[in-house]
Amino acid sequence: MTIDSIKNGIVIDHITAGKAMELYGILGLGELDCSVAILKNVVSAQLGKKDIIKIDRELDLDWDVIGYVDPNITVNIIKNGERVEKRKLKLPETITGVIRCKNPRCITSVEQELPQVFKLTDREKRVYRCLYCETQAGR
Ligand code: ZN
Repeated sequence: MTIDSIKNGIVIDHITAGKAMELYGILGLGELDCSVAILKNVVSAQLGKKDIIKIDRELDLDWDVIGYVDPNITVNIIKNGERVEKRKLKLPETITGVIRCKNPRCITSVEQELPQVFKLTDREKRVYRCLYCETQAGR
């Protein structure tokens, strides 16, 4: 794959500089068998510096997870070398199965099969709290 163009795939753009690896890990991109390119500290007029991830394959991404990691991200879907969709993300109201509650007395620490659910409680400050015990999620 060339860095500049992919024929069919996904370009995750406007990632806050330094966050590409976090997103890469959370989305499990290391498990894909296709080419994945991570561009770090790309100069951007809008952000100063940004990271970009290019995935050389069509795939379903977890939009909530991406929005959680960085709500300023734009995702471009590329088909036959053309951008067919540009998707802006936002912070999801709830996030499931991505972060774990740190409270050792939380029901989810005891009952391991319970889903880890966090609710957005402050959109401006990007604060998420455990649905069960209201412990704040750490970043
Ligand atoms: Zn909890």
